Amino acid sequence: MDRIGVFTSGGDAQGMNAAVRAVVRAALDRGTEVMAIYEGYQGMVDGGENISPISWSDVGGILHQGGTIIGSARSLEFRERPGRLKAVTNLLKAGIDTLVCIGGDGSLTGANLLYQEWPGLLKELVESGVITQDMADKHPHLAIAGIIGSIDNDMYGSDMTTGADTALHRIVEAVDAITSTAASHQRSFVIEVMGRHCGYLALMAGLATGADWVLIPESPPNLDNWEDKMCEVMAQGREIGRRDSIVIVAEGAQDRYGKPITSEHVRQTLEEKLGEDTRITVLGHVQRGGSPSAFDRNLATQLGVQAVEELLNDSPGSEPFVMGIQGNRITRTPLAKCLEITQAVGNAVQAGEFEKAMDLRGRSFKKSFRTLRTLVRAMPHKPEPGKRRMRLAVMNAGGPSPGMNTAVRAAVRLGVDKGHIMMGVNRGFRGLIRGEIRDLDWMDVAGLAPMGGSEFGTNRTVPEGGEWYAIARNLEEHQIEGILMIGGLTGYQAIHEMYRLRENYPAFNIPMICLPASINNNLPGSQLSVGADTALNSIVDAVDKIKQSAVASRRTFVVEVMGHYCGYLALMSALATGAERVYMHEDGVTLQDMINDTNMLIAGFQQGKRVGLLIRNEHANAIYTTDFMRALFEEEGGDLFDVRQAILGHLQQGGNPTPYDRILATRLASDCIDYLEDQIGAGLADSSFIGLVGGEFKLSNTEDLPRLVDSKYGRPKEQWWMGLRQTVDLLAQPGPSVREK
Ligand code: ADP
Repeated sequence: MDRIGVFTSGGDAQGMNAAVRAVVRAALDRGTEVMAIYEGYQGMVDGGENISPISWSDVGGILHQGGTIIGSARSLEFRERPGRLKAVTNLLKAGIDTLVCIGGDGSLTGANLLYQEWPGLLKELVESGVITQDMADKHPHLAIAGIIGSIDNDMYGSDMTTGADTALHRIVEAVDAITSTAASHQRSFVIEVMGRHCGYLALMAGLATGADWVLIPESPPNLDNWEDKMCEVMAQGREIGRRDSIVIVAEGAQDRYGKPITSEHVRQTLEEKLGEDTRITVLGHVQRGGSPSAFDRNLATQLGVQAVEELLNDSPGSEPFVMGIQGNRITRTPLAKCLEITQAVGNAVQAGEFEKAMDLRGRSFKKSFRTLRTLVRAMPHKPEPGKRRMRLAVMNAGGPSPGMNTAVRAAVRLGVDKGHIMMGVNRGFRGLIRGEIRDLDWMDVAGLAPMGGSEFGTNRTVPEGGEWYAIARNLEEHQIEGILMIGGLTGYQAIHEMYRLRENYPAFNIPMICLPASINNNLPGSQLSVGADTALNSIVDAVDKIKQSAVASRRTFVVEVMGHYCGYLALMSALATGAERVYMHEDGVTLQDMINDTNMLIAGFQQGKRVGLLIRNEHANAIYTTDFMRALFEEEGGDLFDVRQAILGHLQQGGNPTPYDRILATRLASDCIDYLEDQIGAGLADSSFIGLVGGEFKLSNTEDLPRLVDSKYGRPKEQWWMGLRQTVDLLAQPGPSVREK
């Protein structure tokens, strides 16, 4: 391979810049030149300056920018063979026979076509004398890696497409804002979100907010008079005290006969049937705007690095592929398969085969839709006569983590809807000791989904001695048959203690389940905990601003982030902000590190660097503190640069939960209620913690807690994300193989 060409195409999506940066730097690091193809396929067709070398520093400082720095366009010319002949000529002239295409299904369809036609196009170009046989022989195949850049999350081949998470951020911010104004005026709002063929954004936005009704293309209302049903639910909602009514409509929503359901139709319906003042907000391009979320930056970065890796390792003539993510694993899927299945969903929707469309979208999409339909009810189903009503307690414990409230809301509503008696425990295990337990009803948890913090109250108390007895008494008094603990490590430890003490206290012989909620992401049995994404985004927002402030003054920042002894937040924020260096307790910090990093900073600023960024976990090293590092680098930096520290502190625990955390919290809570119901129903009393493992929810035995956790440092013995350390190092600064021109 001579050179890799990279381009972004179709609708822009946040994270495209991170992907471009990763592709460029990973390739340069491996000694391969990269050409940027500006303005997508149009630039390929036009050639000239549109295809130019791109350097390590050209992609510096772009992680936080929305859009794409190499431009994106729609190209009619490329759709026709003559246009593609021009494109191939330009690629060959630039020595490119390997492409990374960052775009949506349209762009990737175009890429696949180019791959298929490549030999034929070369033949035609040789015959017409545009290129020599020699040139054609040098580039017999076109190699292509695809990275899906699409806010709609509408493509097979990745659990998440680059840009979808950020779009959800924008939507959820807007729905939260509209909810508060709607509530103060008792108004109804119809909010239209993007998604022509895919209801992902609408569905997830509904799950993450307090929306009352959601309309998506894949699952139209199954009634002819769905308008009546919708209005009935809205009216019921008003009766029981809801102050706002929010309907989210995907732009491609339709009824079961394929007739589009427009926002205007929904508005008119609500106004006519309910007599309510109803407004429409079409979110439009807001959804593509703004700074990319931490998730999109890190996803795109990993996909870009891995795309280059795969291209460099492939044998000549390999088929095009798409890089994607499943759980936390980067995957490679043949492009043709991705296009075929994506097409099949679209066809099924169009043909009115909605069951099939939902099946093709996957299990978690389907289950999320079912959960949503319960959560949006104005009132729960009436308990089935004769069905056993179980008494389930829900509590928070550990440090506060955004998303705890969201999980509580989902658990209580789903439990009540199944006919159970749900009880809330105030103030964590302290409240359980004191008997601060109360019944909760449907409307008691209204409005909790978007709220940060913990409305129940939470703390790090782990009971001891006689307190266990008090807890046992309270459980008996309230006839509690199962416990859902939503919280952090101390909560897990307390539940583990209860499990161990079962012999002594029969009241502890009930099923218990822990739902991981901690900003530190230091919980066993789950690759992610609820709250970590919010904290990460808060850090990334703050660091973006800090970096901006430093540009003017040749400055290095040492930013200290939380995490206890777990380096997750430090590492992931370093990846998302392009930090030069990350210090974590897992790796330790040595004197030699300090010397190397001093030299690295001096060399960098001598070569014209304007900002230095070092991220340090709060407990990375007891001696080399944040202030020590600041003083050391400041002294050594002399006149070349100055150094400041920023200890981010509690802003990391606060804030409203991000869409990702809300969705994770809701889905986990749903599985936890199922677990307790199944256990009690079967007369069992297991105790487990639930978690996200490889994209699926898995249960681990409470018994295994000591085996899985490093008790001295309060973090899992195995941490999957440590593998990303190399990526941070790779992208932070040019290695020896990169020769800047
Ligand atoms: P997206 O990639 O976001 O889905 P589009 O569908 O607009 O966006 O596609 C972007 C570009 O990809 C188009 O302008 C066109 O140049 C190219 N393209 C899309 N579909 C095809 C196709 N079937 N054949 C050739 N080129 C295509």
